[in-house]
Amino acid sequence: MKILVTGGAGYIGSHLVDRLLEEEEVCAVDNLTTGNVENIQHNLNNPKFQFINDSVLNEELMEKLIKGCDVIYHLAAAVGVKHIVDDPLTSIKTNVKGTDIILDLAHRYWKKTLIASTSEIYGKSNQIPFDEHSTERVLGSTKIDRWAYSTSKAIDEHLAFAYSKKGLPVVIVRYFNSYGPRIDEKGYGTVVARFIKQALKGRPITVHGDGKQTRCFTYVDDTVRGTIAACTTKGAEGDVYNIGSNYETSIYQLAVLIKELTGSSSEITSTSYESYYGKGFEDTIKRVPSIINAKKKLKFEAKVSLQDGLKKTIEWCKKNYTF
Ligand code: UDP
Repeated sequence: MKILVTGGAGYIGSHLVDRLLEEEEVCAVDNLTTGNVENIQHNLNNPKFQFINDSVLNEELMEKLIKGCDVIYHLAAAVGVKHIVDDPLTSIKTNVKGTDIILDLAHRYWKKTLIASTSEIYGKSNQIPFDEHSTERVLGSTKIDRWAYSTSKAIDEHLAFAYSKKGLPVVIVRYFNSYGPRIDEKGYGTVVARFIKQALKGRPITVHGDGKQTRCFTYVDDTVRGTIAACTTKGAEGDVYNIGSNYETSIYQLAVLIKELTGSSSEITSTSYESYYGKGFEDTIKRVPSIINAKKKLKFEAKVSLQDGLKKTIEWCKKNYTF
């Protein structure tokens, strides 16, 4: 099998490439906006691997690649709330146009496609846990840039369902706060990357607001396993799956745990959202996935504990971050 991974040099994409290369040939496309060539450096001499430094918006290139592959994992996107808030225009265009191009070509050449989406889809809904089929999406005003991410990925999902209605085998995964080696504070996994860096430097660990907001952090090996399960399980097509742990942690608890695991003397401080995101930011206060559908249909459940995952991530950060 020849697999095309868009966003293949990104944080999740590069881990996915590593796993797929164990059995398949892989072509990764990435324009290195939030991706990093160092994430795939170790694969560059592998004859089963090809890397192309270009954008999914290059339709001519994408046509050639999609024609020549068997399966598409579409992960290329503008990711990370901070990144979206800093440049909403490019983010919306990359996410909507990119997925439109990929799905149009997948439909033309009839290739199975996985679309990577996000738990941002649920917005600030308070129907906990977030269930793929019943939780209503609750978003704020369009004047608040943060919601552009959720909205652009929702268009991607609608497109995928529309192509599915035309018979295309397509499946969607929604990631819940993945973290692990290769996280980058400028892209995906912001809070974990920032807190580890701050703790290792002995600088204040900056918790936004009261730190009571919660997330379910999911180790990248679990994220990748869930992604492959969604794409390879027969009968999973035409649907969307939450891929995440349901172990809920507050941001303050995360700060305490990282301080402990790094043995840092950093103080944990409360800072305003505004100081980081700018004016008019709205946060998701509670985010927990329902894991029932993934368990039932994909036989997938996250396994790595937050402690173990953070230990591995901290080890990687110690070796790879420059201070
Ligand atoms: N956060 C924080 N300090 C930081 C960076 C982020 O307290 O230095 C908070 C952020 O406001 C949010 C949570 O951590 O409540 C998760 O942020 P992230 O950008 O990692 O992901 P999100 O879940 O918001 O997409």
